[in-house]
Amino acid sequence: MIKDEDFIQSKEVPGPTKEEVRCLVMCKAHISKEDVVLDVGCGTGGLTVESAQRAQEVIAIDKNPEAISLTQRNIIKHKLLEKVRLIEGDALSVLTELASFDVLLVGGSSGDLPQIISRGYEKLNYNGRLIITSILLETRVEAVEAIKKLNMTPEVVEVTIAKGKVTDRGTMMMGRNPIAIISAVKKASHP
Ligand code: SAH
Repeated sequence: MIKDEDFIQSKEVPGPTKEEVRCLVMCKAHISKEDVVLDVGCGTGGLTVESAQRAQEVIAIDKNPEAISLTQRNIIKHKLLEKVRLIEGDALSVLTELASFDVLLVGGSSGDLPQIISRGYEKLNYNGRLIITSILLETRVEAVEAIKKLNMTPEVVEVTIAKGKVTDRGTMMMGRNPIAIISAVKKASHP
């Protein structure tokens, strides 16, 4: 897992997803060397870079041009340029133009989460994994509902990471925001 400080960061762009959370996302994504991964809302490129180290190809989408250029800098820094296709645009419109993929990561949706999930599901290969990282309460509910509508079973994991900060008096535990990782697998028997 790549350290947070090994990503080039910008105040204008959210991310990277923290190392410990990336770890959980990678755990649920089960990426293999043959897989094509779609990262919706690539931000700083935290999950794009992490996925590109494991997958055949990563397609990274963001509607914010600054996120696309920051992700590009990070994939160059980690020598993964040939593995990643960057697309600037809105997830819903880009999704209609894409071929199929094995893993769909959703880290940003701007209110379109149910549609992104249903449109993404159509292009997700059988045994493909869908993973949504959610910081908002509403997103958790939307994700669970959308997954159930598609006859998949959502798995919901919520974590609150606390990291120790070494001070003169001792190691102070600093809490971070709770984040939910909602995932599902597209089973072959489902239409
Ligand atoms: N996982 C990233 C951080 C994601 S931040 C990392 O590890 O670095 C969420 C991103 O989603 C933002 O950059 C935002 O611009 C993007 N986003 C939000 N809604 C979107 C949409 N509908 N289409 C494309 N990108 C979107």
